[in-house]
Amino acid sequence: AVHGTSSKQPSKATLFSEEFSLDDRVGVVSGGNRGIGLEAAMALLEGGARSVYCLDLPSNPSEEFLKVRDYVKNMEVAGGKKAGTIEYVSVDVTDKNAVVREVERIGDEERRVDVCVAAAGILRNHISCIEYPEEEFKQVMDVNVNGVLYTAQAAGLQMAKYNVPGSIILIASMSGSLTNMHHHWVSYNTSKGAVIQMARSMACELGTKGIRVNSLSPGYIYTSLTAQYLDKHPGLIDKWSAQNPLGRIGRPDEIRGVVAWLASDASTYCTGSDIMVTGGHHSW
Ligand code: NDP
Repeated sequence: AVHGTSSKQPSKATLFSEEFSLDDRVGVVSGGNRGIGLEAAMALLEGGARSVYCLDLPSNPSEEFLKVRDYVKNMEVAGGKKAGTIEYVSVDVTDKNAVVREVERIGDEERRVDVCVAAAGILRNHISCIEYPEEEFKQVMDVNVNGVLYTAQAAGLQMAKYNVPGSIILIASMSGSLTNMHHHWVSYNTSKGAVIQMARSMACELGTKGIRVNSLSPGYIYTSLTAQYLDKHPGLIDKWSAQNPLGRIGRPDEIRGVVAWLASDASTYCTGSDIMVTGGHHSW
């Protein structure tokens, strides 16, 4: 017999639509105020999640967020069901106590947390590695590494507490495994490399509890994070676009499908992986 197959374990004859369904699941998404985080939240809702909580900085929700919240109110999902709800939760991911407290409140109210997407992140790239200022390096690590860890810890605690075979998705970046000859990206690249290893390490430990942890590494995506460069430097979009075989930078909604898949039962044997969504960008 081939390893992993056995006549005692016939493959489950489940409809594709059932495997991908996120019916009744509860999601927690950091950085869900805009960009990739907000698209991830939409992916969960479109899959049928009953509630999604977007953890983001204690400022007012963005216009993008409010638009999505209004849209979702009248949205229908598979089976003609009304879509779930999306809620803004003010929390700075670098404040571990606040993250744990808020996610615990969500878990206790909902009696579960099924999916966690840790998308809050910042990009500060403009200084050569030799002179890179200590404070700025710490700030990038604090949000991109510590903040991701706190979010995943808080969600993992609730998944274990309510015995949910959850899925934790850490948003890393292609910058976590590739280098860039032309920019001063030392803090960002280092932080994202750490996130990829964080996902692998957490996957090893949490597998026994049935909790999966993967990293998702986007390539260049047009969001407010990259707009700070792309809008200032004419020609940069073309330069970045030429670095992948599809010849363009990505849209934030192009992350949705992978988030939905990783969150769902269609990916139950996938853990500890880094899934790259880069338009084929491989060659820095
Ligand atoms: P955005 O800047 O559009 O979104 C980032 C979100 O994170 C914002 O809502 C921001 O809050 C929030 N945030 C920042 N710091 C904190 C904090 N301390 N606590 C809570 N929330 C915080 O960026 P993207 O959507 O592009 O980025 C999302 C993730 O994807 C990041 O981890 C990024 O590194 C990663 N990524 C992005 C790529 C790209 O090309 N865009 C490529 C690869 C990875 P606020 O709304 O207040 O600004």
